[in-house]
Parts: sequence; C-alpha cells; structure tokens
Amino acid sequence: MIGKDQLPENIKKIINKQVEKFNIRVFTEEVDEIPNVDDIPGEGSAKWLKIKDVICVFVDMKNSTKLSASHHAGTTGRAYTLFTGTAVRLFKEFGASYIDIKGDGVFALFNSNRVHAAFASAVTFKTFIKEEFTTKIANKTDVDTGVHIGIHQATLLVSKIGLRKSASRGDMHNEVWAGKTVNMASKLASLSDSNEIHVSDKYHSKLRSRKALYSCECDDSVFLWEEVDITNDDKFSFNKAMVLKSVWCKKHGATYLTEILDTD
Ligand SMILES: [Zn+2]
Repeated sequence: MIGKDQLPENIKKIINKQVEKFNIRVFTEEVDEIPNVDDIPGEGSAKWLKIKDVICVFVDMKNSTKLSASHHAGTTGRAYTLFTGTAVRLFKEFGASYIDIKGDGVFALFNSNRVHAAFASAVTFKTFIKEEFTTKIANKTDVDTGVHIGIHQATLLVSKIGLRKSASRGDMHNEVWAGKTVNMASKLASLSDSNEIHVSDKYHSKLRSRKALYSCECDDSVFLWEEVDITNDDKFSFNKAMVLKSVWCKKHGATYLTEILDTD
C-alpha cells in the first residue's frame, strides 16, 4: 500500500483509479478470428477477446544497435525504413490480420487457417534480407545486418489499453496482445544467429505442404528443417523448435510460393 505522504496527490490518484479497475471482474469472449482494430474492446469495457491458435511471425533486425543515431543518421533512418516498411507491406500482402512495429522488429498475426501464408511470408522476408537488405546496408556502413525470425502459434487475449486521443493529446491507446504467442515468437527469433527461421514444434506440425518441408528439384529433394533441443532453455514453454536456413530458390521460388499458399 502506498503511504499517505509517499507520493504527490496527482500520482496517487492515477494509481488508485487503476487499482480500482483491477478489482473489477473481467470476462473473456471467444472469437473465431483476429478482430478488426475497431472491434477490440477498450479498458472501460471489462471485456477481453480470446482468439485460439493465432500464428505470430516475428522479425527483427540483426545488429540494429550497431546502426548509430549520431553517426550516419541518414543511413540508419533509411535502413529502418527499408527493413520495417518492407516487412509491414509484405505481411499485409500475405494476408496478415494484424501487424505492429516493436522497436527494431515487426510482428504479424495470422488466423489459424493461414498456416502456409505465415510460412510463405517469413521465407519471403528472409529472401528479401539476403538478396537486397544485407548488401545495401553493408555498402553504406560496416554493420553486419540480417534478420532473426520466429514463428509460434497459441491462444491470445486482446484489449485496448491507454489514453484515447483528445483535444489536448495524441493517441496513446494501443492494442495489447496478452498470452505467449508474440512473446514466444520473439524469443524463437532470438535463437538465430542470422537469416534463420526458428519455429515451435507445435506450429511446424501444422505445415502440410511437401514444398514447405522439402527442397526443390534443383538438388536431391532433402528435408529442409533441423531440430533444435530447447529443453534446458527456460525461456520457452516447449522443448523443441525447428529451424529453416534456406530462402526461395532462384529458379523455382515463385512457383513454390504460389503452391504453398494454395495449401491453406
Ligand atoms: Zn530450385
């Protein structure tokens, strides 16, 4: 309990009001699909929406902290625009239902029936990083960039929290996704050194397309995924991840991408 003279009145008032809200019972309503932002309830409503088996693709920039804001600020700015701007547009094109920017990363949420769209978006972004982003940044700076990518699938809760836009302030009101989906996808992303896609075994087991699992006919068709044991890593709520290192084949990529998307 905050003491009587521990904090100024205005601050105590804010905290007390939020604590009162905490004491109000909240209920969850299950919905089948990721809702439109306008349909997400706010703080006042005491309602959270619950969505099953949401897929999260999380991408973040390797070595972004080495891109300086004081030195080469222009290049740093352009690097973020190229990385983040492309990620948002590609996720949209692949049918993500919600996309948000988190620091040097971007995450996209896909409905449970878009398993292969989520996969294709991740491989496509990785291909863009390898073929365009990394060399463009290396030409301007000495920073070794790349991407860390993670995918997980789990139940999510969502509500909007914060302060709505008013005459005296801008919007400080945001969707909050509670649950393990986004968090685990971000932690899976952090397992990679660079240009790898780490996915949870739960999500991996939903990939049915042979083309998402095996390499193309350029070589002998081999299983593309390697198993990673994360039993001893207590950041994770599961014991096994799978990692993919390849990008779309220069010869067969477009055909594979289209066929994989048709699997959903
Ligand atoms: Zn090929």
